[in-house]
Amino acid sequence: MPVGPYDVEAMESAPVAWAVLGEPWQVAVGQAWESWVAGSAGVGAALIDAEGAVVAQGRNRMAEASDGRLSGTVMAHAEMDVLAQVALGTRPTGALYTTFEPCLMCAPTIVTSRTRGRPMARTRSSTPA
Ligand SMILES: [Zn+2]
Repeated sequence: MPVGPYDVEAMESAPVAWAVLGEPWQVAVGQAWESWVAGSAGVGAALIDAEGAVVAQGRNRMAEASDGRLSGTVMAHAEMDVLAQVALGTRPTGALYTTFEPCLMCAPTIVTSRTRGRPMARTRSSTPA
């Protein structure tokens, strides 16, 4: 039985499935791939504004050379990379998309940023019963 935009039967090819994802997921997955290729954890994230436009994107950069900020540190998670681009006093009006369930460091940081929604990629087997 078809379920919303994620109708498996409609996703008969990778390009169709990719198009169904929409821009925020495409950006987050693209960032995850860049992270993986760079030798990091393969996690990506994207922040959208209230209209749905991607306003910041980031990736896990733990295995990358230090840039004097987050890269190369244990704090270089994708969600932290995105939120580090939000100026103090600026409240994100959209949602943060992440390809991995936020960890114990990132989850409270996302809440503290007051970002509205927190969509995350997960497999069906990881969905609580
Ligand atoms: Zn994290």
